[in-house]
Amino acid sequence: MNEELLWPLPPEFTTISQRFGEHPEWYVPYGLAGHEGWDLPCPIETPTFTTHDGWIDPSWRGEYGNSVRIYGEGFFTFHAHLVRTIGAYGQTVRAGQIIGWTGDTGVRDDGTPSCRGRHLHWGIKVDGVANAAFKDWLNPEPFLRRETMKTGWHLGNEGEITELDWRIMEILVPGCVVWMPG
Ligand SMILES: [Zn+2]
Repeated sequence: MNEELLWPLPPEFTTISQRFGEHPEWYVPYGLAGHEGWDLPCPIETPTFTTHDGWIDPSWRGEYGNSVRIYGEGFFTFHAHLVRTIGAYGQTVRAGQIIGWTGDTGVRDDGTPSCRGRHLHWGIKVDGVANAAFKDWLNPEPFLRRETMKTGWHLGNEGEITELDWRIMEILVPGCVVWMPG
């Protein structure tokens, strides 16, 4: 893959509450050497955006709660613990498009909640890049850089939301509360 990813949340939410590889003791039951992504705390119902163009699979559940995989060329990214997702399996999405709202969903096999506080869990796997101790999840650090953060929705080259973007969003998310940058 060779593309710059967008930040998956509105720009006021840049805190990382749990980095990649942290708390190995929590992840022993999952066969992981530690946390397999980044946790970005944010209030419930915060919109989350795909960080790149691709197509979505919103069918993931279980410990990750309502969650979405977005498949790009040679990689996929993952947004977990959402209150809800939008879009259907196979639907194409453009970088910056809203794909759900954050929350704290997810349950273990024994029925207990698996999510520690409200946050977005974000992860990435790249085809052909192994990371056995983390079931091939990779450290988001080189992919999600706050220094190069771009704000949400699909932004044109000038960083502006176009009329067309707004019309697309109204069709995709009728009646949604739209976050506006700036
Ligand atoms: Zn996490």
